[in-house]
Amino acid sequence: SKGYRIMKTPSLNKGLAFTEMEREELGLKGLIPSATMTLDSQVKMTILEFRRQSSPLDKYVFLQSLQDAHSTLYYAVLSRHTSECMPFVYTPVVGEACQKFSQIYRHTPQGLYLSFEDRGKLRSILDNWPENDIRAIVFTDGERILGLGDQGLDGMGIPIGKLALYTACGGVPPSQCLPVSLDVGTNNEDKLNDPFYIGLRRRRVTGPEYDAFVAEFIEAAVDKYGRSVMLQFEDFGNKNAFRLLERWQNEVCCFNDDIQGTAAVALAGILGSTPLTGIPVEHHRFLFLGAGEAGAGIAELIAYAVHCETGESIEECRKHIFMLDSKGLVCKARASDLQHHKLPFAHDVDHVPDLLTAVRTLKPTALIGVSTLAKSFDQAVIEEMSANSARPLIFALSNPTSKAECTPQEAYQWSDGAAVYASGSPFEPVEYKGKAYIPGQGNNAYIFPGVGLAAVACGATQITDLDMYIAAKALAETISKDRLDASCVYPRLDDIREVSVKVALAIVKNKYATGHASVLPQPLDLEAHIRSVTYEPRY
Ligand code: NAP
Ligand code: MN
Repeated sequence: SKGYRIMKTPSLNKGLAFTEMEREELGLKGLIPSATMTLDSQVKMTILEFRRQSSPLDKYVFLQSLQDAHSTLYYAVLSRHTSECMPFVYTPVVGEACQKFSQIYRHTPQGLYLSFEDRGKLRSILDNWPENDIRAIVFTDGERILGLGDQGLDGMGIPIGKLALYTACGGVPPSQCLPVSLDVGTNNEDKLNDPFYIGLRRRRVTGPEYDAFVAEFIEAAVDKYGRSVMLQFEDFGNKNAFRLLERWQNEVCCFNDDIQGTAAVALAGILGSTPLTGIPVEHHRFLFLGAGEAGAGIAELIAYAVHCETGESIEECRKHIFMLDSKGLVCKARASDLQHHKLPFAHDVDHVPDLLTAVRTLKPTALIGVSTLAKSFDQAVIEEMSANSARPLIFALSNPTSKAECTPQEAYQWSDGAAVYASGSPFEPVEYKGKAYIPGQGNNAYIFPGVGLAAVACGATQITDLDMYIAAKALAETISKDRLDASCVYPRLDDIREVSVKVALAIVKNKYATGHASVLPQPLDLEAHIRSVTYEPRY
């Protein structure tokens, strides 16, 4: 019956919130118990049931099942309990969900699985998805899922979770979002040997065939959804991530969140710290532990920001930034065997094998950890940083929590309360010598939902470094005085919807100013226009 089909359609289902009249008219009588409930009470009931789930993975599966059955309620729960639910939709629990994705597969389409075996047919496969007006795509090949390495098709949990946050945190309409897995095989032996693995059972496709497959997908998406469809690269391996971004960023509306989103959120923390340190970004000396996707992305955006602030050349601006990788200081003497993305930071300085010596000799004012090396910011390192600067920036961004370069307690204690600390994973507030400190979380969710919202609102045809810099500035301006007083350089996670509107507004202005907006004519009131395209979970 019609009523049955409506209740089986997640976006149309209202559960007990169908009114008496709807129940009569739509043929729902008998399919629902007699009680009626508002969305508000449904949210209250659901969050209690969520809290009753015992393990983190149970909570993840609970929320996913809700998304599959009743999407308005799902987004209402996520929007009203953002900081509580986010860890079970995205990192850290999505990591475990990806590792077990084949086991918890729920037999309903949640996005597109594009297999290398189907190459040549991708454009027609897009027609199998029920929605035609897609504006935001997150896609992965599953090669470098969070810090968990190659998960093959099971990496699909990441695009699904990330797009849920585009909607919950940015208000991008869920019907316009599409998660995509590019299944090009996996080199993960455990997956290949698992009889229940649901991805392509072969080793990864590489070389020209791989590039052609990615290109076929991007071209099919642009052909079907138009030039302004936003394509977000997610969790690609290092060797592909930088290359693909370079190949596509001037041609389609795309960005890589691991490189550029991370960069913008870290830069926002740096810009936001100026009222505390008195040091503007162009006067800092940066030392990075880690020179991978996150490190290179952040370093390049800092150089770009300094270039915008001072007018100095990018090459000159990079000289304020030093990086250590697993082989010590990135420097000119190592140039012949450095990966491409590290070369711009291979300065003419003596090689130093370890972090402490690097801090001693280079005297940085800001230390950025993106190394996955837990506990690497030890007491000696933090004390040395405190000797260089009255209020050193200590950003321990490695995820998950167990990988953090140091905890907030350690940073505050070893710097005697002077450190301006931020982390990648959430930490509880700290009290040190009677003063309250809130460790800011440099969560990419402060940036990417706003970028997506901007792209959708103005039909962006390109996303540039300038957009990322502007987004970072807008985010930095949202930090309230009481957060700053607690040495915190990020806003409240529960304010994220408003933060995303501010980030989006800043980018949309830039898109119109630079001629990269395709929604024309330009709306008179850009903020009102942005708000008008956002999705609100309600019946
Ligand atoms: P990645 O591309 O694998 O890079 C890791 C980097 O760390 C590489 O340059 C690696 O050196 C270096 N490294 C590894 N072991 C080291 C050691 N013992 N000493 C010094 N350097 C070492 O990973 P990624 O994507 O950049 O991510 C790095 C970390 O940042 C992860 O923990 C991730 O969760 C975190 N992250 C946080 C945020 C956030 O807070 N918003 C966003 C993105 C990423 P080699 O180059 O020599 O291999
Ligand atoms: Mn990622």
